[in-house]
Amino acid sequence: MIQLHDKFFKPFISEKEIQQAVKRVADTIAADYRDTTPIFVGVLNGSFMFVSDFLKAYEYPCEVSFVKLSSYQGLTSTGIVETLLDLPENIEGRDVIILEDIIDTGRTLQELVHLFSNTNVKEFKIASLFYKSEVYNGEYAIDYFGLEIPDRFIVGYGLDYKELGRNFREVYQLNQKHMINLVLFGKPGAGKGTQAQFLKEQYNLKHISTGDVFRFNIKNGTELGNLAKSYIDKGDLVPDAVTIKMLEDEVGKNPDADGFIFDGFPRTAAQAEALDNFLESKDMKINATIALEANDEVLIARLLERGKVSGRSDDQDVDKIRNRFEEYSLKTAPLKNYYEDQNKFHSVNGIGSIEEITERLTKVIASL
Ligand code: AMP
Repeated sequence: MIQLHDKFFKPFISEKEIQQAVKRVADTIAADYRDTTPIFVGVLNGSFMFVSDFLKAYEYPCEVSFVKLSSYQGLTSTGIVETLLDLPENIEGRDVIILEDIIDTGRTLQELVHLFSNTNVKEFKIASLFYKSEVYNGEYAIDYFGLEIPDRFIVGYGLDYKELGRNFREVYQLNQKHMINLVLFGKPGAGKGTQAQFLKEQYNLKHISTGDVFRFNIKNGTELGNLAKSYIDKGDLVPDAVTIKMLEDEVGKNPDADGFIFDGFPRTAAQAEALDNFLESKDMKINATIALEANDEVLIARLLERGKVSGRSDDQDVDKIRNRFEEYSLKTAPLKNYYEDQNKFHSVNGIGSIEEITERLTKVIASL
């Protein structure tokens, strides 16, 4: 186990496996390009080790160059990618093969394709040492890859965590043992969002409220927002496929979080199972599901009060509120058994002052 900044990493891919994968990629590309003189274009910074070892394994005429992109994780859902080191010259009519250290969502790749789209290269191919097929958006074909890997946060062999770890000869994965992942459970108005604000500060967790993400998308008129709006306006649940995909994207945007608070998710059995499978694929798990309990009359009064302030239309109409409660009793309440079977279900009295309830939640988390 090694430590980089605040996080621990455990061995994942050995030096030998990496070198074998590099050799395989070099041999495959050589079979296709040995009689031409391709230009290999490494994508900095992460690919420098791969490019170096790749070129040593590629024993035919070739040239090498680099581009550098920088991605920022802004407030919006898509990171902005900026070019810091531009295209090599004299690539017109040439065979260009991009050498990437890793392909995950495909955002950087999209920018690369865009970068080369105005050039008259003869052929444009993509080779990546590591390939996260589970999260790749699939927009472009990956022509060559060395190793297909699950969606883990990795460092080493050129890849970094906050700039550290690039010099390791082997690849390590983030150790998730210290992560705390919580599901906040309870009817609308139970106080999940309010309590999440306190817990996220206290434990340095990322709070994901599916309701908030939907409302953000509706406000911004995105495709997802337009799709969700009709359901939310009536107090119905948005279809599982849409919600699950959105949740996975939100988790994927925070690969180095110390843990997550899931608020308003899962709400159906299918969502609970999808969440478990998804977390398992990332070497993560739910530690506890904590239900905030309060009776309907208290909840209705709270929601109507909130509706006056927030302007949420689904909080202003008693019929819509009752429909949300019905959806809860029908589809969400049965999840109690799902988590009880896993010994993860905890119940907390959700009536009292905000501080009192935070205190009750903290006690449960401390007991984990
Ligand atoms: P909330 O803010 O959690 O009360 O969510 C508001 C509305 O967003 C719900 O009434 C649903 O229409 C929709 N929604 C939020 N989370 C989910 C989910 N996990 N599954 C389906 N629909 C959801």
